[in-house]
Amino acid sequence: MAKMIRKNYLLAPGPTPVPIDLLLEGAKDTIHHRTPQYLEIQKVALDGAKYIFRTENPVFILSSSGTGAMETAVANTLNPGDKAIVVVAGKFGERWMEIAKAYGIDPIVVDLEWGDYVKPETIKELLEKNPDVKAVFTTLSETSTGTVHPIKEIAEIVKDTNAIMVVDAISGMLAQPLEMDAWNLDIVVTGVQKGFMMPPGIALISVSDKAWKVIDENKNYHYYFDLKAYKKKYPDSPYTPPVNLVYQLAKSVQMIEEEGIENVWERHRIMADATRAAVQAMGLELFAKNPGNVLTSVKVPEGVDGGKILKYLRDEEGVTFAGGQNHLKGKIIRIAHLGYMSKYDVIVGISALEMALKKFGFDVELGVGVKAAQEVFMKEGV
Ligand SMILES: *Cc1c(COP(=O)(O)O)cnc(C)c1O
Repeated sequence: MAKMIRKNYLLAPGPTPVPIDLLLEGAKDTIHHRTPQYLEIQKVALDGAKYIFRTENPVFILSSSGTGAMETAVANTLNPGDKAIVVVAGKFGERWMEIAKAYGIDPIVVDLEWGDYVKPETIKELLEKNPDVKAVFTTLSETSTGTVHPIKEIAEIVKDTNAIMVVDAISGMLAQPLEMDAWNLDIVVTGVQKGFMMPPGIALISVSDKAWKVIDENKNYHYYFDLKAYKKKYPDSPYTPPVNLVYQLAKSVQMIEEEGIENVWERHRIMADATRAAVQAMGLELFAKNPGNVLTSVKVPEGVDGGKILKYLRDEEGVTFAGGQNHLKGKIIRIAHLGYMSKYDVIVGISALEMALKKFGFDVELGVGVKAAQEVFMKEGV
């Protein structure tokens, strides 16, 4: 049998593909970080990040993956014994809970079925019952399930209380609309290996005036991730920044600014619509109760081994999707349409999935998913 060339298609929700222009940017000469030449580049990155966060607050660069910014948000706001609400509807909501516990907080957990989303009313009731809650920890796009939470509506409630609204927008930023200032979000965190199209290694965090008051009263012990140190040095850095990654970030935000954030959101919306139409045409069922534009999660059909299909696609075919995590292992397939992806990445992914499902015994008519995706793209005129 002939052997085909194997190319890699990274269709997972982080890390996402990196455009060659960005990779090359990182290959530039490493310069010293305490120089005007470097600070000029960092300023471009920081100003662009503010544009993407939709905020007038500073955005701080942390040398870590996204979780580092989550930990920063908890460590700088809560003291042991403080009250906090965490929304858990998947692996990343769970992470807020675990970090809170690691800092001596026993959080009030809104424990939802994975795939579900929190109703703003639930948060309202909890805040009324617990007026001493200091912070509400939420997730814009719960990447383990593909569901988005109604962040804007929750923030509307939290705004009128003493609590601060903290959002993990690590995968959601750029794929889902998010307006830090207009929505009254107090702390927003993200990581650059998702919508920013960058290699992993930078997390970003921004803080509102309301949140600074909480941070200023914080007595929890932390050192490297002390936001006060970052604020004091801004727009410089307290420690050595990841210089070459910051070159890439400066380039990434320029690309995004040039395109316009509304266009970036809309582009993700169209890719998500096409993917959802495709998998449904193939006879698959969506897993998320409120599917967003970061990724599409589908239930693995009865009688098919989800783990085997993903391994086959990745190792033999070069097409990497993400599988389910924890109890969803083998039960769902997560198809990302995030960051540097084109409509043909969607079509490659869908056609690979059709062929793999057929190979593994699921009765799908080849081309139905591809056709449905193509039709969405044609209808959208893209
Ligand atoms: C990817 C992701 C994280 C974790 O980020 P790391 O960069 O792996 O630390 C946290 N939350 C969400 C919603 C994510 O998608």
